[in-house]
Amino acid sequence: MLPEQPKTNKNAKVNQSGMSGALAIPAPIYTKSIRIETQDTPLQLAVVQADITKLPVDAIVNAANSTLLGGGGVDGAIHRVAGPELLAYCRTLNGCATGEVKMSPAFKLPSHYVLHTVGPIWHGGGRGEAELLARCYQGAIALAVAHEFTSLAFPAISTGVYGYPLMEATQVAVAAVQESLLQQAAIHKNLALKQVIFCCFSAADAKVYAQVLQAS
Ligand code: ADP
Repeated sequence: MLPEQPKTNKNAKVNQSGMSGALAIPAPIYTKSIRIETQDTPLQLAVVQADITKLPVDAIVNAANSTLLGGGGVDGAIHRVAGPELLAYCRTLNGCATGEVKMSPAFKLPSHYVLHTVGPIWHGGGRGEAELLARCYQGAIALAVAHEFTSLAFPAISTGVYGYPLMEATQVAVAAVQESLLQQAAIHKNLALKQVIFCCFSAADAKVYAQVLQAS
């Protein structure tokens, strides 16, 4: 059972209060609006160049390893900012298989929750890597919808230490997110989820994401 966390975006409230130092989502490098019949408002996909640990969204996705006990890259950054309570909580989750997603509170992060997923290690593309990577994105979208999150941010899963080529991984990410949103929108009228962010650490990665999203 997860500790109770408010579902409204606490940081959006901080921003509205005009407090200095309040976190905000940086201006997107590229956005795409998807209008769907069953939805009152369009869903927004945004490419943002940022450190995901600074994003005040309902949930961020962690590109974790199967132990869920911390690692390098984005996983290390998320654990550092969240604090030791995150590791203690993750110990109770019994790991995570490749392509699956598990949820935790976000503790000291500015988001509310962390969706931990394990992307595939790149072995050349012939070992089901694309399907496994797509499942990471689909599972996170499904959980975000089930929990009525309004905003969700993904890092470029598997493209760091796990070696998935960026262009191929981006094509999988963009297709999986859009297909999942359409599937969810077919089931639920007026999804709470309004914004999905592709959070890129580097400007070069953000450029690739913007190109792929534009072409999709
Ligand atoms: P994986 O093991 O799944 O490849 P990595 O953490 O090594 O995961 O890398 C995944 C992506 O996360 C890479 O594009 C890397 O540049 C990016 N990344 C690393 N730190 C951060 C961060 N603080 N915020 C957003 N993205 C990050």
